[in-house]
Amino acid sequence: MKVHYLGTAYASRAHDRCAAYVRQVRDAHLANTSENYVDVAYNLLVCEHGTVYEGRGAHRRCGANGSADLNRAHYAVCALLGSSGLTEPPDAMLRGLRDAVAYLRREGDAGDEVLGHRDGHPTSCPGDPLYRWVRAGAPRPGGGEGEPGPPPVARYQTTINGLVYGYGARGDHVTAVGRALVERGHGEHYRVGPGPVWSDADTLNYASWQRSLGYTGGDADGVPGEVSLRRLLGRLPSGRPVVDLSRLVAAARQDPPSSGTRVSYGGVRVVEDALVAEGLLDRRYADGHFGTATVRAYAAWQRRCGYTGAAADGIPGRDSLTRLGRARGFDVTS
Ligand SMILES: [Zn+2]
Ligand SMILES: [Zn+2]
Repeated sequence: MKVHYLGTAYASRAHDRCAAYVRQVRDAHLANTSENYVDVAYNLLVCEHGTVYEGRGAHRRCGANGSADLNRAHYAVCALLGSSGLTEPPDAMLRGLRDAVAYLRREGDAGDEVLGHRDGHPTSCPGDPLYRWVRAGAPRPGGGEGEPGPPPVARYQTTINGLVYGYGARGDHVTAVGRALVERGHGEHYRVGPGPVWSDADTLNYASWQRSLGYTGGDADGVPGEVSLRRLLGRLPSGRPVVDLSRLVAAARQDPPSSGTRVSYGGVRVVEDALVAEGLLDRRYADGHFGTATVRAYAAWQRRCGYTGAAADGIPGRDSLTRLGRARGFDVTS
């Protein structure tokens, strides 16, 4: 989010005149034929009394940051603050700016970052007093209640038909899911189009799709299940899975030794299925957790590869994993 000010003379006023002033700003932007604005150039505006006014709102590009690239990447919030007259932001205004940040994070997938217009563009905006606040980390005056953060978004992965879905999963199949969600009208959380890396926006949009199918609670947490995925795409995509060695090793070192909690890395299940197929792991332990049974089974695979002693400790290495993938149909990256 980028913070702006009016940059003109602006007199402190009673709050019942603030809304009219916001409309005046909008009219001035629409009258500016050289910029060819279609609306007010700010996503939100904040008055000295702390009220947040909706300009372009969330999920819309603004015209205020000085270049097409900056406008695409940042929301613009304008403080009703002048270069003369009212130049010092009152605490109520700073709290309003924090509210604006919270709103754009919650409703618009904005990041935590608060910058001034002058960051990345030659301008005095948003004026020295407000820019000092930005540089100080844009704190909420008095600290206090903080702000309602975005609701928690599910960040675990699942493997369906050999392909990984959920936060951090990557591949063309992820893009395909995003495109299908947009086509069916569940793309509202994308600020940029769907891409090959599964983000929180993908999860939120997928949750919207699940709810439209009647799922609720944990069944509508935005991580695909087989049924909702098949209904979305009309088929179940399949692919040769890719296992990330470093994430697998991290899971092998960290996973709890039993099921019952969320899996930390979807690739674990791919490896477990391979160990089951090799006759080294009982199927009931193929639960997505690289727990003690999986470590024991992987150590047996390492011994089968010719490793002994500490080299067969059950923590995957590149050579043994590549050989398991070659035997059981997955690829290895790091
Ligand atoms: Zn500005
Ligand atoms: Zn006001």
